[in-house]
Amino acid sequence: MDFDMEVIRIGHGYDVHALRDGLPLILGGESIEHDKGFVAHSDGDVLAHALSDALLGALALGDIGSHFPDTDPQYCGADSLDLLSKVYGMIRQKGYRLANADMTILLQRPKLRPHIDRMRENIARTLWVDIDRISIKATTEERLGFTGREEGAAAHAVVLLVKG
Ligand code: MG
Repeated sequence: MDFDMEVIRIGHGYDVHALRDGLPLILGGESIEHDKGFVAHSDGDVLAHALSDALLGALALGDIGSHFPDTDPQYCGADSLDLLSKVYGMIRQKGYRLANADMTILLQRPKLRPHIDRMRENIARTLWVDIDRISIKATTEERLGFTGREEGAAAHAVVLLVKG
């Protein structure tokens, strides 16, 4: 079987940010009412960061830290959907587009279910794809580990890119 290995590419991303009392909690571009938020140079949107890394990883383009260093004052308080949009511009420039993305957020509190569809909309709009290509799931880690102790949150993302 003859198959062009450049037609499809898979990517994975993972990110973590610490939570602290009184800071804004932004996930998937959605501002979520909560008593804790992310300690970060940017807005700390772990979901957007994991997704950006997955997109970059699919084409072996490094990671968001290499493209948008957290030592650069330009990215202080940055809207991570803007960074995601810039990352996707690099992907499009290489001739690829997103087939689908599947993501999981690890967070003890608050319940994310009421916010998931708006996060999906935000990301679908940023990447110019239909919402049914964007999957976002959320889970707690059963009060275990750093997410369980509400010290931080994590996100995983897997993407498939197609050429054309
Ligand atoms: Mg990050």
